[in-house]
Amino acid sequence: SAPRRRLPDWLKRPIPEAGGTYFTKDLVGELGLETICESARCPNRSECWTRRTATFMVLGEVCTRPCGFCAVPRGRPEPVALDEPDRLAEACARLGLKHVVITSVTRDDLPDGGADHFRRCILAVRERTGATIEVLVPDFDGRTDSIDIVLSANPEVFNHNLETVARLQQHVRRKSQYAVSLKVLDHARRSRPDVRTKSGLMLGLGETTEELFETLADLRAVGCDFLTLGQYLQPSPRHLPVLRYLPPAEFDELGRLARTLGFAEVASGPFVRSSYHADEMAKMGARV
Ligand code: SF4
Ligand code: SF4
Repeated sequence: SAPRRRLPDWLKRPIPEAGGTYFTKDLVGELGLETICESARCPNRSECWTRRTATFMVLGEVCTRPCGFCAVPRGRPEPVALDEPDRLAEACARLGLKHVVITSVTRDDLPDGGADHFRRCILAVRERTGATIEVLVPDFDGRTDSIDIVLSANPEVFNHNLETVARLQQHVRRKSQYAVSLKVLDHARRSRPDVRTKSGLMLGLGETTEELFETLADLRAVGCDFLTLGQYLQPSPRHLPVLRYLPPAEFDELGRLARTLGFAEVASGPFVRSSYHADEMAKMGARV
């Protein structure tokens, strides 16, 4: 296998211990929930939690798809926990969260892909908090009825990641398809023009700049409002290798160029994750 490359200096940032006095691992654990912030040991934790933003993963910890970049284990998923929306809302209320991101594994085993569970989670959090709510959803196999179920609960932001350019989809996402993901975003835009749509890509997987711009143009063609661009990092030696570490200045330049394509808001940087500074984007509010 390829030798592991040393991390460039700009990525050598100490991983902070859990920041924020109000946000404790204990509370999340006590309520039987999982945050991506903790489970992925996200480098932005202190910053996000200080801003009272967190990303929760619902619908279990086992995924039915085998993406080559993702650390979530593949296997047979657990039954849906019907009390999870209440536990989630309880955590959000006790933590005083201002922006809540709800994401999930892909549940190809469920008839609606978990859409109704997303709907119930949004409603429960809305009932208990004044937080803005963003959903980061799987592709639901492109089923428009599932997308509409999620949208019926009025999330502020509907996020679905393309992850990479068209040519690398099979290599990176394996069972997920570029066209299906674009369709998800397109349908959300048409179905609910007032809800902001959002997508993101990981860079450094072998995409060319030209391919990247084609992808950004495709996202704009389906009216995608918000964009995140971040560095792909290999979760373990068994995962896809990093082919390139983009310097911070290059991320800045890509972000600037992306804005000229008409995205309402762009976050671009080595540490940017799908939910990084998500509160700022959500504050841009509903489309008119
Ligand atoms: Fe959590 Fe997302 Fe912030 Fe990372 S970027 S700490 S996953 S909210
Ligand atoms: Fe990870 Fe999502 Fe792919 Fe499942 S579908 S392996 S959770 S990226």
